[in-house]
Amino acid sequence: MSDGVGEEVFERYDRQLRIEGWDQEKLMNARVVIVGVGATGCEVAKNLALMGVGTLVLIDNDVVELSNLSRQMLFTDDDIGKPKAIVAAEKLKKMNPWINVETYFEDVRSVPHDVFNKSNVIVSCLDNWPARRWLNSLAVELDKPLIDLSMEGFYANLQIVLPGKTACLECHGDELIPKEVQVAECTLRRRKPEDLVKDLKESGVEISLKTAEKLFQLNIKTIYDLKYLQAGVLEKMDNKTRKTVEKIQEKLKPKMPALQSVAALIAGIASTEIVKLLHEGKLGEIMTDFLVYDGLSGRFTTVKLERRTDCFVCGDIVRQKAVDFPVSPEETVLDLKKRIAEQFKIPDPELLYKTWRLTDDQKLADLQVKNGDIIYVDTSRRFMPLPLKLVLSGE
Ligand SMILES: [Zn+2]
Repeated sequence: MSDGVGEEVFERYDRQLRIEGWDQEKLMNARVVIVGVGATGCEVAKNLALMGVGTLVLIDNDVVELSNLSRQMLFTDDDIGKPKAIVAAEKLKKMNPWINVETYFEDVRSVPHDVFNKSNVIVSCLDNWPARRWLNSLAVELDKPLIDLSMEGFYANLQIVLPGKTACLECHGDELIPKEVQVAECTLRRRKPEDLVKDLKESGVEISLKTAEKLFQLNIKTIYDLKYLQAGVLEKMDNKTRKTVEKIQEKLKPKMPALQSVAALIAGIASTEIVKLLHEGKLGEIMTDFLVYDGLSGRFTTVKLERRTDCFVCGDIVRQKAVDFPVSPEETVLDLKKRIAEQFKIPDPELLYKTWRLTDDQKLADLQVKNGDIIYVDTSRRFMPLPLKLVLSGE
């Protein structure tokens, strides 16, 4: 860039160009996906835009609400009701006209994988565990660095996942993922529509038994299922059911305490790490420890997390083609699900065999499974089903 344009660009970045080891070209050629354009997502996007990261991809399926305006700094009163990703893109382009911004106003799980595959870094600024876990699994599968940040009130934390090198979100999920999320995900116990009515009532939502029965037919059995319906399920419902589900979802929306200053702080640290990642080791060391910030005491704590080689998302065992799994023909599908849940710490396994989704009371013998057959374990925690190679006992 030797013309006037180049000069303008370089003057814009003059102060950061003075940092030893800084490579603006690397940033300008980079592509970063930001999932979730809430408080932390706005902050990360703003930082990366100002620093001149060439392409930002914003993914968010929400619209701007009044209660967002105390912290989601890319939005103003005029934006209420508009898609966050699209409004944010307009603001970012004004802040720095030299960058590209792509937007997806949809559920992250329906965005084409190519969008992630073409990127250098994925940033998770989501407010719910199911989507965070799904993204974690996707990043590991695509071998892309993932920066996961979250906050609640005065607390915030940050974890950087370098697939195959550092711990992923599931490696220490037992300790780090709230117990109620883990329990809520467990659909192994046999539930009845009455259970759903009762659970919803406890959350302040009243539905009729008839509605609950209808939801059960759609395989929606828990509050968890309602909150985090896979993309596409809503579209398949009849109009009335869809409207009911949307109303329930609105009432169940997480309303966590949140503070702009904490969002800015954790997003600032995350953005610095992203810049370092884009410099591919030529600018400082990547923070691989899990970081916890407690704003009430003003304390930063770092925790060393080892990658677990038996992790069901990033472990060496699941990165093989298929994992050997001993079974007995006398087992029922439910028995098998329980053992899989135990061994791989997957609380909600669904089993796929040939073209069937197996039901709990089926017996393996009746399915005529053969030694070496592959069963796929489908779980909301993994973006790809986990293949298991059956090893029949007695053969
Ligand atoms: Zn892991």
